[in-house]
Amino acid sequence: MEKTLVLIKPDAFSKHYSGDIIKRYEQEGFRIVAMKLLKMDERLASIHYEEHIGRPYYEDLVSFMTSAPLIALVLEGEDAIARVRKLHGKTNPAEAEEGTIRKQFAASGSRNAVHASDSVENANREIHIFFNETEILDGEYHAKE
Ligand code: ADP
Ligand code: MG
Repeated sequence: MEKTLVLIKPDAFSKHYSGDIIKRYEQEGFRIVAMKLLKMDERLASIHYEEHIGRPYYEDLVSFMTSAPLIALVLEGEDAIARVRKLHGKTNPAEAEEGTIRKQFAASGSRNAVHASDSVENANREIHIFFNETEILDGEYHAKE
């Protein structure tokens, strides 16, 4: 079982797409093992998007990501990192495949609705930017009938 960090970005949150997006993860069989609503600040953005600092789009990316709340989730499932990336589609929604979350909900290559980790190393790093170990569910659960 793999864990991956997902962000429902400010554009999707503000347009009230969060419920529809979360539903897609549930339909694909991913388990939500952590979830929170927060507003990113510049410091958090610079840690999360460390590898993008200095790129031409970085300043715009930070002002967008800090402009409104977002939802952070940890999803768990078999091969979750690659499968969630595939479900999200390409970075630019104009190139995203039919049926992907970005094709349906993203407005542009920068306001693109969702983030997902791209490797085991980055998933581990990103999950712990947003969550403590105690905030991540461990083990099976079943609601009492
Ligand atoms: P992904 O989110 O698909 O992993 P990247 O890691 O390459 O994509 O980029 C991180 C985020 O930075 C993108 O999701 C997007 O919001 C923004 N971004 C990346 N490239 C560009 C670009 N050329 N122009 C504007 N925004 C960009
Ligand atoms: Mg990325």
